[in-house]
Amino acid sequence: MQDGTRLLINRGMKLKCGNCGKGSLFRAYLKLHETCPSCGLDLAAADTADGPAFFVGFFTMIVVTPIILFFTLSVDSWTAKAIAVLVGILSCAIVCLTLLPPVKAILLNLQIKYDSGEGTIE
Ligand SMILES: [Zn+2]
Repeated sequence: MQDGTRLLINRGMKLKCGNCGKGSLFRAYLKLHETCPSCGLDLAAADTADGPAFFVGFFTMIVVTPIILFFTLSVDSWTAKAIAVLVGILSCAIVCLTLLPPVKAILLNLQIKYDSGEGTIE
């Protein structure tokens, strides 16, 4: 991986601007600033759309769901199964809500740096 890409990912994980590494990308949970408060980079130039939700959702489905199923199927009583399902649902929600901001920041930094946009048919 190129050093520039690694730097963008590291800055995204800290929720910082990929250009300067100082300005915060978010003014609220998943709400972006219009421009970077530090360097003035136009953050509205890129739109991650539902990309972060896709990656976080699939990560949760592939990694967390088997753990939940293991615990749910390993207990015998219905009460324990119900508790395992509830804990599993809460775990999925916590994992998703925790991972969404850094994944969105990483994708936004990469989009701005590499000037990516919607695909077109020529
Ligand atoms: Zn900046």
